[in-house]
Amino acid sequence: MTEPSVLILGAGYSGLTVAMELRARLPAGHRVILVDRHEVLRLCAFNLDVMTGKRSSPPEGRYSSVVGEGIEFIHADVLHIDPKRRTVETSVGTLVADQLVLALGAELDPGQVPGFSEGACNLYDADGAKEIQRRLSGLSQGQVIVMISRTPFKCPAAPYEAAFLIDYLLRSRGVRNQVSLSVYTPEWQPMAAAGEAVGNEVVKLLVSRGINYYTEHMVLKIDPGKRKVWFEVDDADFDLLVGVPPHVAPAAMRGAGLTDSTGWVPVNPRTLETRFPGVFALGDLVSIPLHNGLFLPMAGVFAVQEGLTVATNIAARLQGGEPEVEFEGEGFCYLEVGGDEAGFAAGRFLEKPAPQVRFEAPSREHREAKGAFSDSLLQLLRR
Ligand SMILES: Cc1cc2nc3c(=O)[nH]c(=O)nc-3n(C[C@H](O)[C@H](O)[C@H](O)COP(=O)(O)OP(=O)(O)OC[C@H]3O[C@@H](n4cnc5c(N)ncnc54)[C@H](O)[C@@H]3O)c2cc1C
Repeated sequence: MTEPSVLILGAGYSGLTVAMELRARLPAGHRVILVDRHEVLRLCAFNLDVMTGKRSSPPEGRYSSVVGEGIEFIHADVLHIDPKRRTVETSVGTLVADQLVLALGAELDPGQVPGFSEGACNLYDADGAKEIQRRLSGLSQGQVIVMISRTPFKCPAAPYEAAFLIDYLLRSRGVRNQVSLSVYTPEWQPMAAAGEAVGNEVVKLLVSRGINYYTEHMVLKIDPGKRKVWFEVDDADFDLLVGVPPHVAPAAMRGAGLTDSTGWVPVNPRTLETRFPGVFALGDLVSIPLHNGLFLPMAGVFAVQEGLTVATNIAARLQGGEPEVEFEGEGFCYLEVGGDEAGFAAGRFLEKPAPQVRFEAPSREHREAKGAFSDSLLQLLRR
């Protein structure tokens, strides 16, 4: 009899976590197979450092050295998933699994907004972040817009951090008075899933720095030639447009009938199992409803915790046991505001009747803690 296999699709934060944790928990004979379309892992969460010029590119490492021993890495594109049979068509052939883990993340889809690719610098893409840095360094007057195209998007704090860091950079260069800086978003408040109190604190920080804030603004199109952006309700001119593009679930997920009317993959919020037994989904591609009517934010901290939950329970199942742990929905994030300071939000997102999240004002201590957290992510590359 052959030993059971676990097939993990996607080797980002969640997929890598599942693979490494499973390898640590399963006997050597059990196969742990990890598939990704890239040969190199790039930590896009460091794009803000690229934008400010602190780094020239996001940190990266080849999977051949990142994944530990005993994990079979396959460099391939996932083309089609049959969740009933736990069979996956890839660019290098068909793979079959005893347990299947879907960790393909969210795809960026700038094409949904006409003119985005030509007119906006994509903050969520390493080249885009580099271009923002280049354009900011030569900017001494005009209008800078940070624009969120659609919800949901990865890391709800990141575009706000981008605005604070741009504000700080321009102040450091003594040109902030000549530059108008605005954030446009379809949200009704920043970091909405974390609740009104957290959002209000972020708005106060924006106002205190003279950053204009326009909520409930859904972008319709961008005219790169006229440097103008049209929203449903009005329009705005820009010299530099820093954009967060729309996100969609990867095509392979949509094609497999795994997504629901939200466009994302529904799962049991405590076990991350889909409606197909033995098929788990986690990370940015799942929709986990919260008791305030919103959804769990797309964030690496959740992706990693979900990964640990899934791996622990799969390992128990394959060794004849019962599920051992549940996903608790605890999360935190730092909000960089420039000047070596960061705010801090943390809480329990699955609480009833609403997530319980607290916000702590920006301080140097929180910025240092963010540095330590970032270093821990870099450990992924230093195995
Ligand atoms: C600028 C920025 C800052 C951020 N800052 C933070 C932060 O401070 N804290 C935090 O918690 N989170 C942060 N995040 C969010 C975090 O990066 C994501 O939530 C996290 O990466 C999600 O993990 P994942 O495993 O679901 O997806 P990913 O990490 O995106 O991994 C998905 C993997 O699937 C692969 N893949 C996709 N489709 C296919 C296919 N068809 N075939 C084969 N492989 C495929 C991809 O190549 C990728 O490796 C930030 C994100 C950005 C963009």
